[in-house]
Amino acid sequence: MTASPVPLSTAVAPERERHRALVDAAVAWQAGRPRHTDPDLFALLCGAAEESGGGDGVSPTRWTRTGAAHLLRCDLPNWCAGRRCRWPDGEVDALWEWFDFLHATGRVDPSSDPLAELRKPLCCAGGLDEDGRPLPDGAPPRVECECFLPYRETALLLGELARDAVDRGEDVLAPLRRALGHRGFPSPWPDGPVTDPDDLDDLDDPSRWSGSGP
Ligand SMILES: [Zn+2]
Repeated sequence: MTASPVPLSTAVAPERERHRALVDAAVAWQAGRPRHTDPDLFALLCGAAEESGGGDGVSPTRWTRTGAAHLLRCDLPNWCAGRRCRWPDGEVDALWEWFDFLHATGRVDPSSDPLAELRKPLCCAGGLDEDGRPLPDGAPPRVECECFLPYRETALLLGELARDAVDRGEDVLAPLRRALGHRGFPSPWPDGPVTDPDDLDDLDDPSRWSGSGP
């Protein structure tokens, strides 16, 4: 016989107690605002963040873009499975509100990624629009997937690559297209991957690209 699931309120009781001040502050911050979140969901976010296996130092007040994506994909279901409770609805909305709360009340750890970056996994994997509202059924995400890209290092590396390209008089994306054998934007393989080494030289010639870029 399969044991009944543990109610979320029971499973998350230690987290409610441990993070009472923070969770109560979030609930108070939502008063008078259009969205109201079950405090158990906020406590669940705190607990899952504490146990995050994402590897980039996520905590209830410190968040990264990859950490947020990892939380939704792995940490929340793992936390719930470990306590034998069902993965509740509303966690994506709760995380949106949590980020807004931390940001609006000055509680976000300054080593976190910017708020706009934290929201991207919620729009990509979580099915929200740029205002945190659910996308219509079947609507594609409004952002490109950056769930697996660490924000700061990726931005720094791409910036360095772009500056080097500009110094050489190249389009800023030419080194990336060349590295991947892409001919242009938006389709990465309009003519199939580049297999002839002589063709790689052509990738520096914008007239050979199939697209003009964004
Ligand atoms: Zn994504």
